[in-house]
Amino acid sequence: MDIFCKIIKGEIPSYKLYEDEKVLAFLDVNPNHNGHTLIVPKEHYENFFDIDEELLHHILKVAKEIANLLKEKLNYDGISLCQNNYYGQEVKHFHLHLIPKYKEENKLSVEEVYNKLK
Ligand code: AMP
Repeated sequence: MDIFCKIIKGEIPSYKLYEDEKVLAFLDVNPNHNGHTLIVPKEHYENFFDIDEELLHHILKVAKEIANLLKEKLNYDGISLCQNNYYGQEVKHFHLHLIPKYKEENKLSVEEVYNKLK
């Protein structure tokens, strides 16, 4: 079982930001920047090519909500959405990265960022 399936099952802890019946969003434990978030479907899909399209739309809707939350709480200057497939994809469970960008950044620990977002 992949690590995100284990997080979804509650077997591994995560810095959870959002959950509904279809998806889970949590902070990346090795963030590129403060507030780096991953959105994953609860049902296992490996990548962009096998994921259900309706679910993909739902993930994008949730991504907008989380991007707004991150803007409100962390006041980033920009934000990138990215998603790796095949080569370069470390975890073989579909995940959308939301990566805030800052003109100047005081890099915080994941726990410190989480406390700001709660
Ligand atoms: P990718 O290269 O697109 O597959 O990215 C996988 C991401 O998952 C990386 O940014 C990792 O830091 C992140 N990651 C791996 N394990 C965990 C975990 N247990 N909790 C949160 N993020 C994780």
